[in-house]
Amino acid sequence: MLQSLLIANRGEIACRIIRMARALGIRTIAVHSDADAHARHVRLADEAVHIGASSPPESYLRGDRIIAAALDRGAEAIHPGYGFLSENGDFAQGVIDAGLIWIGPEPASIRAMGRKDAAKRLMQDAGVPVTPGYLGEDQSPARLHAAAAAIGWPVLIKAVAGGGGKGMRRVDDAEQFAAALEACRREAASAFGDDRVLLEKYIRSPRHIEVQLFGDRHGNLVHLFERDCSIQRRHQKIIEEAPAPGMDEATRGWLCDTAVRAGRAVEYVGAGTVEFIADASDGLRANRIWFMEMNTRLQVEHPVTEAITGVDLVEWQIRVASGEPLPMAQDGLSIRGHAIEARLCAEDPADGFRPSVGPLDHFVVPPTARIDSGVEQGDASSRFYDPMLAKIIAHAASREQAIQALAATCGGIEVWPVRTNAGLLHRLLRHPRFARGPVDTGFVEAAGDMLALSSVQRVAMLAQAAIGLVRPDDTGRGAPRSDASGDVWTARTGFRLNAADDPFVFVDGGGGLERVSLPPGWQRRAVTALPVPGGIVVFDEGEALFARTDAGARAVGGSVGDGVIVAPMPGRITAVGVAMGARVTSGQMLVTLEAMKMEQALIAPFDGVVAALGVVVGAQVDEGAMLVRIDKEG
Ligand code: ADP
Ligand code: ADP
Ligand code: MG
Repeated sequence: MLQSLLIANRGEIACRIIRMARALGIRTIAVHSDADAHARHVRLADEAVHIGASSPPESYLRGDRIIAAALDRGAEAIHPGYGFLSENGDFAQGVIDAGLIWIGPEPASIRAMGRKDAAKRLMQDAGVPVTPGYLGEDQSPARLHAAAAAIGWPVLIKAVAGGGGKGMRRVDDAEQFAAALEACRREAASAFGDDRVLLEKYIRSPRHIEVQLFGDRHGNLVHLFERDCSIQRRHQKIIEEAPAPGMDEATRGWLCDTAVRAGRAVEYVGAGTVEFIADASDGLRANRIWFMEMNTRLQVEHPVTEAITGVDLVEWQIRVASGEPLPMAQDGLSIRGHAIEARLCAEDPADGFRPSVGPLDHFVVPPTARIDSGVEQGDASSRFYDPMLAKIIAHAASREQAIQALAATCGGIEVWPVRTNAGLLHRLLRHPRFARGPVDTGFVEAAGDMLALSSVQRVAMLAQAAIGLVRPDDTGRGAPRSDASGDVWTARTGFRLNAADDPFVFVDGGGGLERVSLPPGWQRRAVTALPVPGGIVVFDEGEALFARTDAGARAVGGSVGDGVIVAPMPGRITAVGVAMGARVTSGQMLVTLEAMKMEQALIAPFDGVVAALGVVVGAQVDEGAMLVRIDKEG
């Protein structure tokens, strides 16, 4: 067994590897960039080495510095995690040449699978069915165009060196081809330094099914069944599960044997994944599943396989790298229950999944599932790296129970001020179509608005924010919160509420002041309301909604049938926005009051006319003084 290990990665995977190595009594050495000087993986490791500036090419992609750090700290082995240098054959060779143990397959296996076209040719020779398409060396636009037409539209243009869902273009007809090819080439050249492409038939109703492989240096190679990773956005996985729903035993047997054949063709050692694409328009059938690519590393979604097999894949990686044989033979492996994983990402689904960067002032994931996290509360989401913060994995006897458990956990996630996809994950997991069974890779896009935050939930959250801002006393009248500290809480709002049948307040939840009806009896839901500077954040089913309490946006209201606006506190009138008899609409500013060095707007509670006006600009008013009365018209 190894004595020491350097982890050439960051984030959740570095933390996960450190945790396992620790359990095996191995000394762990982290590497980090400037931005990660205090990152969780650095805190968890026994030692940490700074390897450069924040951008990956200056640190996590600097193989030379990483190897030097390993030698300097006396590390015996290097684990590359996934991403970064994990599928770089030259780096693997460099590690070996430096006399260190490489926790991964032979550099030759990495290289054989590194280019999608070469890998597919190799697989064809090994008798593995590959996605129909064009793999030719002739990269002239004319030749590619002719090949695409021969395959039949739609086709998918893929960068041969592509990965992470980048460098891919679907083309629906001949007219689009030239432009799509050019765009794909440009993206491939800048992202991968290689503008060569291959063409594939675009599979309709595609499901992404992959098989986990594991080999050792004693000639053993086993599979650990399949995973279904069809829930994707922009060709990137967000939810993965194992086993694949709707997979019958015969098809599973064929698929897993095929994957093992693929692994044997490259004499695979260590953990690897063979990715297949299935045309699932008519269920999963062996003659409609094709090899797509092989990832010669540990996969992001490996925990679902761990859950259903009981195998710790990182432990196996370390044992195999130490020269031990696989701890288990094929016939010792079986599937138990169902597991499902969700990727929690720092991004805003409502804004095109734009990465969200900043401090994680509030970061809570209920400990009701396995959580593989790269961060804790107080850490940050960095603009330099992948936005994935954590993975959440649920395991249960049935698919239905696993989905339910994961949905419950995702629904309890609270993150602020960084935006996350937790609400989307929760809605995906609760979607009846997903619950019913397999979906294809177009599901997230097709479901579209159905997966967006509903206006019903948003309004319910606004109401909860309003209750958090102004808590009723026993008589049901509006009263300021007295149990919280800070200006926001001690400042009295202009809130006014009689025993009305339709109590409401004005709240700014990001889109300007909105009139929000309060739930009957001011019912609080089981949501967290977190006081933050300038307002309050309400968390509900993974979503976070911020309501402002600063001047001009404070909750101010009245009640139907009572248009009397009184001064909520002693102060000075700084503006009068209406005249006697003027028509006003609900939410319109009537007067502003300066009190306690803050200005607040008092707003019309409903449409009507100004029936009484008790103040002029500059007037000093006492608390409770009548300022304006609005009467309903007619
Ligand atoms: P990457 O290296 O970026 O992971 P893959 O070749 O594995 O690229 O493809 C990523 C995803 O793109 C797949 O999971 C699938 O959703 C989609 N995809 C790939 N090939 C096809 C195809 N021929 N038809 C339809 N969708 C495809
Ligand atoms: P998999 O095929 O294992 O699901 P992907 O094809 O999504 O993985 O590629 C790995 C992804 O992980 C890439 O998008 C890469 O940017 C990202 N990545 C690499 N290293 C890390 C890390 N340490 N933490 C989070 N994400 C990472
Ligand atoms: Mg892939």
